[in-house]
Amino acid sequence: MNRDKPSVAVVGSINTDIVIEVARMPEPGETIAGRAAAFYSGGKGANQAVAAARLGADVRLFGKVGGDPLGGRLLDGLRESGVDVCAVEIEADTPSGLASIWVDRRGDNAIVVAAGANGLVDTEYVGRHLDRIAAADVLLLQLEIPIATVAHLLHALPAAGPTVILDPAPAHDLASLPLTRVDVLTPNEHELRIVSGSDTIEAGAQHLIDLGAKNVICTLGADGAVWIPSSGPIMRLPAPNVDVVDTTAAGDAFAGALASALPGLPLAAAIPLAIAAGALATTVRGAQPSLPNAADLDAFLAPRLR
Ligand code: ADP
Repeated sequence: MNRDKPSVAVVGSINTDIVIEVARMPEPGETIAGRAAAFYSGGKGANQAVAAARLGADVRLFGKVGGDPLGGRLLDGLRESGVDVCAVEIEADTPSGLASIWVDRRGDNAIVVAAGANGLVDTEYVGRHLDRIAAADVLLLQLEIPIATVAHLLHALPAAGPTVILDPAPAHDLASLPLTRVDVLTPNEHELRIVSGSDTIEAGAQHLIDLGAKNVICTLGADGAVWIPSSGPIMRLPAPNVDVVDTTAAGDAFAGALASALPGLPLAAAIPLAIAAGALATTVRGAQPSLPNAADLDAFLAPRLR
């Protein structure tokens, strides 16, 4: 690890997204023509690792790919983005994680995710890598690997270990997780409603804080984010106006940017950077291609800070 840079451990999913544009969704049993398939690197773990690495953090990703050619392609792409994949294991007899995404003319999509090797990121794997995970400044987690693994890892982390950011996406019941070991939860509005069972942001966030989370940051798309700390006032932070092209991975840009900023900055200063990174990600098509680097973010923020 390079001690001059903040170190971020990401334990999460690594997927290939296969996107096909269709005129309309097929009925059961029907075959329809789609436009040529496009292959993209994805998975929330991989996306957030790339987001943090592009913004200057020393990022190590923990997870699994399959023994198929897609796995090798995913690892090559991560290396090119500056993510350390030494701890990523290859499951020879299992396919890599795959998301099949159909997008229709109205922009609606239907997605089927086959977890593949991501489903084998188990307690034994994280137990074996615990020392290296716990040595990072920040640990970034999502819910595209088995939730029992996330629970085991949170229980096993030493109290003096990394600052923990949990992006509860896709939304999942959090009852099995020791939220007392989570410093920052970053749901979007939809995820907050599902994981808390509450209809309002304030009530939902308060519920998660009552369960032990130290901070909840609910992202609000074009409206920025609202930060609910366990003590102190609620803060609403706006997003800049941008020309939106594609909002895919805005939340991943937000979480990755927060992880890269947190070792050096308090939350009050890190959240606006994460909001700007999320906004910038909406101005470029695709998931990983849209994640900004430090120069992009500086150039975007400079005129706004004058
Ligand atoms: P998710 O992608 O997880 O649904 P959001 O849509 O809330 O998350 O987006 C995450 C962050 O990205 C927001 O907090 C905001 O900073 C930025 N963002 C998303 N959509 C827009 C937008 N239309 N305009 C400006 N910023 C946006």
